[in-house]
Amino acid sequence: MKRNLVRALVLAAMVVVSVGSYNIWSYCDGRCSSRTFFTLGPPGLILLAGISLAVTALLVLKFRRLSCYYRNHCRCGQALGQSWKFCSACGQSRPRTSA
Ligand SMILES: [Zn+2]
Repeated sequence: MKRNLVRALVLAAMVVVSVGSYNIWSYCDGRCSSRTFFTLGPPGLILLAGISLAVTALLVLKFRRLSCYYRNHCRCGQALGQSWKFCSACGQSRPRTSA
C-alpha cells in the first residue's frame, strides 16, 4: 500500500513538473503572460484528459483483475477449483457469484 502511495506521489510530481516546464517554456517564448501562467492551455488540457483516461482505464483493469482473483480464491487465500462448493483448506462455503 505504501508502495502505491509512493508511485502515485511520483506520478503526481511528474505531472506537476511537466505542466510547470511547459508553462515556463510558454512564458519564455512569449506565448503566455504572468497572469495566465498557472492556467492550463490546450496542450495542458489534452494532457490532463489523457491522464484522466489512463487512470480510469488503470482502475477498471485493476478492479477486473481483483474481481477475477476473488472469484477463484477463498477468503483464506486457497485457490478454488471451478466446481468446488467449499474451500478445501478452511471449509468455508464458496461465495456466490453472479456470473
Ligand atoms: Zn478457505
